[in-house]
Amino acid sequence: MHTSYSDGALSPYELVKKAKSVGLSIISITDHDSVSALDEAQEISKEFAIEIIPGTELSATLNGAEIHILGYFMDFHNKLFLDFLAESRGERLKRAERIVNKLNQMNIPLKMESVLANTTGDSVGRPHIANALVNEGHAQSYHQAFSKYIGNGRPAFEKKAECSPEEIVRIINQAGGLSFLAHPGHSVSDTLLFQTIKAGVDGIEVVHPSHTPDLVRYYRGIVNEYCLLESGGSDFHGGQKGDEHLLGSIGIPVSTVDIMRRRLFSN
Ligand code: AMP
Ligand code: ZN
Repeated sequence: MHTSYSDGALSPYELVKKAKSVGLSIISITDHDSVSALDEAQEISKEFAIEIIPGTELSATLNGAEIHILGYFMDFHNKLFLDFLAESRGERLKRAERIVNKLNQMNIPLKMESVLANTTGDSVGRPHIANALVNEGHAQSYHQAFSKYIGNGRPAFEKKAECSPEEIVRIINQAGGLSFLAHPGHSVSDTLLFQTIKAGVDGIEVVHPSHTPDLVRYYRGIVNEYCLLESGGSDFHGGQKGDEHLLGSIGIPVSTVDIMRRRLFSN
């Protein structure tokens, strides 16, 4: 799940409270390139008697395409890991500036200050640019901002800085965490999937809102065949983008989390 530290709508407190209210006993917060919510969230978790697995969602480039890799169970105070995240967030900022420049060249006078005014945390992403475009009257809706300007392949699109999946797996593993290819059903070809397995991921996110029951069966089969771990979740962003119903209805059983813990224990 994502908090306001990246592109989620809820603060760590609001998210943990909401997760508890729908009956969840374990959650993971996986902000993009950020673990800034985790100290606060773990403190709050005591009040709500809910377990929070430290997480993050990182971006890798493979054959020119972007894939996402989730890290779970890291020591989120690990210096190398924190340095890597800080560098990634710096690259996000530079990329947002490149997108704003492209928009300006298209005679859309969006300023970087407006983008930053739409962020609530430390990780800038296209959702913040989309919100700025809407709030400044340059797009009629959040989705139109993507389809007209900043979506993949659209005129103001800019790629992120390149980072190999091997590097991301290594940085997660050295911090004591497990790495998972995120939502492969969300435009990840089988070629990329198998290359990511070769890159050394510990598992695959089998359960995700974008996966049909057939896809869940397909990815579960691959996980079993390659002796990988399974993960899953709601990818909840706070309810603002129509994902309210996902919280508490899409996830994995505690027994699947226990299998992850056993793998960690044997590492
Ligand atoms: P970023 O990490 O900055 O590339 O932003 C990626 C996020 O932007 C995704 O997680 C989605 O929430 C959102 N996004 C990407 N493409 C679209 C789209 N076509 N329509 C709506 N949201 C999108
Ligand atoms: Zn993702």
